[in-house]
Amino acid sequence: MTARILIVDDMPTNIMLLQAILEEEFYDVVTAGSGEEALELAAREQFDLVLLDIMMPDQNGYCVCRRLKALSETRLLPVILVTAISDPEARAEGLAAGADDFITKPINAAELIARVRSVLRQKFMFDELSGPEDVSGSVVPFAAQLSGERDRTVALIDNGSALLTALKAQLVTFGEVRTLPMDGALDTICKMHIDLVALPISAQERGGLELLARLRGNPATRDIPILAAATEDRVAPIVRAFDLGAGDCVRLPASHREIEARVRTLLRRRMFAERLRGNVHLSLRLATTDAVTGLFNRHYLTSQLETMCMTAAADGTPLSLILLDLDRFKRVNDDYGHTAGDIVLRRIADMIAANVRGVDVAARFGGEEFAIILPSIGPEEAWQAAERIRRLIEKAEIDANGQCVRMTTSAGVATLTPGGELNSLIARADRALYAAKYAGRNRTETDRDGDGDAGWSGDMAAGFHLANER
Ligand code: GH3
Ligand code: MG
Ligand code: MG
Repeated sequence: MTARILIVDDMPTNIMLLQAILEEEFYDVVTAGSGEEALELAAREQFDLVLLDIMMPDQNGYCVCRRLKALSETRLLPVILVTAISDPEARAEGLAAGADDFITKPINAAELIARVRSVLRQKFMFDELSGPEDVSGSVVPFAAQLSGERDRTVALIDNGSALLTALKAQLVTFGEVRTLPMDGALDTICKMHIDLVALPISAQERGGLELLARLRGNPATRDIPILAAATEDRVAPIVRAFDLGAGDCVRLPASHREIEARVRTLLRRRMFAERLRGNVHLSLRLATTDAVTGLFNRHYLTSQLETMCMTAAADGTPLSLILLDLDRFKRVNDDYGHTAGDIVLRRIADMIAANVRGVDVAARFGGEEFAIILPSIGPEEAWQAAERIRRLIEKAEIDANGQCVRMTTSAGVATLTPGGELNSLIARADRALYAAKYAGRNRTETDRDGDGDAGWSGDMAAGFHLANER
């Protein structure tokens, strides 16, 4: 996983040290000697992460971090603060400024890399979900407050240590804390709705790391954020915990503000990821469905038609297309209003959807036109299917805003037989539909591969348009 990282520090020796560690891992490194230079660079160029020193003469790291998180171009750019200050309050202040993580000097290379990787993994996942055009859009910035806070349930895995008792008191801010023994914790968490798991990790006791791996491996618990709490000052378990997929690792004891900031970041990331995933599903759905009727849209139908025709040709089976156009639909709008017209369209779409097979594709083809692709169906059966739907619509008493609306529809059917011409299928179904309109509406006509069965002629086209205008 390579990435472009901006190191910001006023001391050249610090920069050299960080640069050496990161370049060893093949990251591309750019450096800046002051906060102002960093802000300029970040606004101009693309980075994946900023490593930001806190103690700088012109502008301290908190301030630079706050400014990065306030600008639309850089607000999703992750920031890890680097500092010699071991004061827990300073640490918490950094996280409160919107930093994604915090690392203390002297720098331990393994821990630095583990934290960098963890933050980058998150960033790349967000980039992928949001897509290039959404990055500066309406997404929630990391620094934003958690909105719509509800009652959360936090599972705290207790190994009896006093450090964990203190952590429990800190976690209470976020909701109900369920203390669970390590044994059987996975089963319990699977059965409950848990928003966050906090678990102890240490080099001696491997239970915490094992549980972490199991939580990550289980589909039911895979997305729950995990805060790994190191109960000793060793780097190895922290690196391992990040490796296994912990969302964050904290060394205990930690100040209340630090716990609060870290937990908030974890919950916010989770909420953000869920929202982005929801958006991806939504945009996929919007791209293929018609908003008024919930059927597929014309674009989707035509793209499917092509693939399904090719499959049919390869299998040597027929495929039919039905086009339906509601008769005198304009009058519904004129008599009952456009809203009632929409309701009628929806009811008819429901009828169509309920009366096709699972393999058929039903779509709204235009204003008051619908189309159905019927794979493996020949001309006779397709005519019958169209007739069945036509009769259902004819019989239906549609309740549109308390008004009873009666509708009829005309249908055109065309079939692609093996070896037939794919491109003209829609045109042929349309031609049959025009023939049905011309013949007086509320009927189904079939186009028999242009052999004139649907009675199409240029004169008829002119006649239909005249009839339509009356
Ligand atoms: P014909 O029997 O010849 O098909 O007559 P028609 O009135 O159904 O056909 P025409 O093409 O003249 O009019 C279609 C009407 O459908 C006009 C338009 O206002 C209405 N329409 C198209 N889309 C919508 C929609 O989404 N909602 C509503 N309420 N009406 C729509
Ligand atoms: Mg119509
Ligand atoms: Mg029409």
